[in-house]
Amino acid sequence: MVPEPCRLPSERLSGTFKEPMYSVKPGRGPSTFGVIGAVIAAAFGVIWIVMAVSIGASGFFVFFGVVFVLLMIAGGIYNFYNATASNRVSEVDIVSSATEPDPLDRMLGRKPASPPDTGVENPDRFCPYCGSALSVEFKFCPACGKAIGPAI
Ligand SMILES: [Zn+2]
Repeated sequence: MVPEPCRLPSERLSGTFKEPMYSVKPGRGPSTFGVIGAVIAAAFGVIWIVMAVSIGASGFFVFFGVVFVLLMIAGGIYNFYNATASNRVSEVDIVSSATEPDPLDRMLGRKPASPPDTGVENPDRFCPYCGSALSVEFKFCPACGKAIGPAI
């Protein structure tokens, strides 16, 4: 593995490098149940359409059934993909504020949370995970505890 080069603060803030991004994937079990539920609901929608047409209901009820069936098919495809594909769609991505600042903080005029104080006066580099000031000899970040690669 190539060691991570030391990051300048300006690099961190401008987002010119990519930190590892972690994501939460939907489970295969719940996705499978989602497929089953979508098939059942779509079948119900088809019965709804047939009934609405046969009793001569207004076009709105038929239209409702068609939209419902299409939504169930789309949901079924999505869940089938997450149940079977090797690369699943993420439900939640975990990103640090250095990679992706919260736009709501800016809209509300709040300062983004500053990195924890590690007591390092003249930092040689910064933690790529939490942005804390680090000395060159640190092997682990004292703020977040993550292993830091050797400085270059
Ligand atoms: Zn850290």
